[in-house]
Amino acid sequence: MRHPDFKHKTTKSALWLDSKYKPSWVDAELAAMAPGTVQESNVVSWNTRLARHVKAGQNEKTMELFRQMQQEGITPDAFTFVQILNACANSQALDEGRRIHAWTIQSGYESNVFISCSLVNMYAKCGRDKDAQKEFDKIWTHYVMYWSAMIPGHMECVEGQKGLEPSQQVQCEAMQPDPGIFVAVLNACASVVALEEGRCVHEHIIQSGLGSNVVVNNSLIDMYVKCGSIDNAWGVFNQMPTQDVVSWNAMILGHVKCGQGQKALALYGEMQREGVQPDPYTFVGVLSACASVEALEEGRHIHEQIIQCGCESNVFLGNSLIDMYAKCRSMEDAGRVFGMMHTRNIVAWTAMILGHVKCGEGHKALALSHQMQQEGVRPDPVNFVAVLNACASVGALEEGRYVHKQIIQSGFESDFFVGSGLIDMYSKCGSIEDAQRVFNSMPKHDAVCWTAMLGGYAMHGHAKQALKHFKQMCDEGVEINNVTFVSLLSACSHAGLVDEGVHYFGSMSSVYRISPTVEHYVCMVDLLGRAGRLQEAEDLINTISCEPNAAVWMALLGACRVHGNVEMGERIAKRVLELDPQSEAGYVLLSNIYAAADKWDLSANVQQQRLERGVKKQTGCTWIEVNNEVHTFRLDDQEHPQLSEIHAELERLYRQMNHIGYVPDTKFVLHDVDEEEKVFHLSHHSEKLAIAFGLLNTPAGTPLHIFKNLQVCGDCHTATKFIAKIARREIIVRDVNRIHHFKDGLCSCRDYWQ
Ligand SMILES: [Zn+2]
Ligand SMILES: [Zn+2]
Repeated sequence: MRHPDFKHKTTKSALWLDSKYKPSWVDAELAAMAPGTVQESNVVSWNTRLARHVKAGQNEKTMELFRQMQQEGITPDAFTFVQILNACANSQALDEGRRIHAWTIQSGYESNVFISCSLVNMYAKCGRDKDAQKEFDKIWTHYVMYWSAMIPGHMECVEGQKGLEPSQQVQCEAMQPDPGIFVAVLNACASVVALEEGRCVHEHIIQSGLGSNVVVNNSLIDMYVKCGSIDNAWGVFNQMPTQDVVSWNAMILGHVKCGQGQKALALYGEMQREGVQPDPYTFVGVLSACASVEALEEGRHIHEQIIQCGCESNVFLGNSLIDMYAKCRSMEDAGRVFGMMHTRNIVAWTAMILGHVKCGEGHKALALSHQMQQEGVRPDPVNFVAVLNACASVGALEEGRYVHKQIIQSGFESDFFVGSGLIDMYSKCGSIEDAQRVFNSMPKHDAVCWTAMLGGYAMHGHAKQALKHFKQMCDEGVEINNVTFVSLLSACSHAGLVDEGVHYFGSMSSVYRISPTVEHYVCMVDLLGRAGRLQEAEDLINTISCEPNAAVWMALLGACRVHGNVEMGERIAKRVLELDPQSEAGYVLLSNIYAAADKWDLSANVQQQRLERGVKKQTGCTWIEVNNEVHTFRLDDQEHPQLSEIHAELERLYRQMNHIGYVPDTKFVLHDVDEEEKVFHLSHHSEKLAIAFGLLNTPAGTPLHIFKNLQVCGDCHTATKFIAKIARREIIVRDVNRIHHFKDGLCSCRDYWQ
């Protein structure tokens, strides 16, 4: 790219305070910029266009315009740089941002406050916290100088900071406090979450007599919200003489960020009663509030308001609407908005893909990502991770590998977020080796990558490796959070390491100061229950201070089934069905408990109750990916074209299995039929159909990856051990709880799984 010459560089611009340069976010001041010379007027008109595109979120368009500007030989000024840096920040274009940074220094703008603030914002948005902090420290030094020059004597807040010499103080006579400076510095404080410095600026604002300036107050609210201090934000909001739409927006968004979606919606109601007209930013805020609390009806109502306001073609709002509908699990509505969008940017595609994953429609998500690439939309890191989630959800390992290649080609492979997405995808698709390879190839890891790897070990039942990995995390000072503990405890639970699990659970609050959540209790009940310590598990549930949910009782109910405890099972099932009357698994487990105890009447009663209450039974299905195509099987499938070959293969396998000691486990076949029919029924379970299909359609020796939407059944688990031995194949089965690795007649779970 050709650099324009810097002849127009003025000595004046070396001064930090250059009154000509206004911050981009004070729109009113934009209009006040009067054109001067021809060159200047050119820059100003270019800048106005740039600002318009940045504001509309059209980052690529902004960059294109900037290139055109250079081709026409127009020298960018400070305002241009501010716009470009904002575009870089919004699109997280770090390399471009760094290049602009170097350019601003060359152009003599090193100490321009507005550029420095944009740099802080750019580095923070690109995740370069250290660079952002470095720039912020520079701003703060200059700000201290500015303030001490402005009102000598008012040094209480800034005194002693950064050790300024008196000679360094800016020579400034009769300087008026500039709201723009406060706004810029508050923005920088918000970017690096510098609450103390922000409070200090707040004091200065009051001392300067700007305490009732709406723009300044809105920046204060924004700063407090972004620093997580919603109380202080309320303080500013309440003392404002009049609040405008920007003030309300900041408060609404603040509550959404604190996870108080309901409160945000209530604020929106209040805002309307006060007669303040919402703008597109308000809608973005309330839509994300709806999304966070899954308030579909409220979301639909806001959609209507958006149409009434005539701003439904706004790209931001389109994306927010898709996100809201997707998070409220209404993919039909989301698809309708998506279909009507004029320009679908990467954010819209990503929201659609994630929505399908959330609704359990991983294949639709993958189809959409193919369509996206066909339409020439290039994936960004967030999109890649969404597609990896889709692969993980359906176990599309081959597709996942292909996405991995694309990630390497795009140069995103050392991105923490992408790395943890890859680790998660490979683990869930059954290849812990690939997950480990990704982890080891990353030059650095953040806490999320470490935890993703730990989750992989847990899912695969590699408890020893999980414990070693956890120890390494502690040694390297990685932040241990509650997600880490969920993985650690489930690793212990899957491997039956009861003492270790109890020990780590105890250390959570005593050593790591993390209070256990319901998820941790589920792991612990699972751990104790599987080990047969049912009473201990029940006692633990009774110690939970908040109301235990159905999931906790369900874990105990599962244990009652494994250990055949009918009395406790009845009692616990009652609790589960009280808390969640639509719990299909609750009915199924209880009827299984009765069946196993030969109480067939009671078992049938429970099934009858389930039907009467309209609780549908989820049908089990198993799928396998062969040659990039997914084949799905259901119980006693009649549709697959290769069905007769599959049945013949199963018959052949059964003959060999019977020969080496396989005994069908008909315990859980809840049909009132004779034994022979039960065995026939078992042999047509979807797991077995998928395995036979895999054996027929892949070269000898290739591992088979099988996925089941429910827990694998006991008979299929036993049969798979035999099949793995006879066919000399590794068979990796992922069910709803964990991953089983069958090899040479054994399973990695060592049969400790039910
Ligand atoms: Zn089965
Ligand atoms: Zn197993």
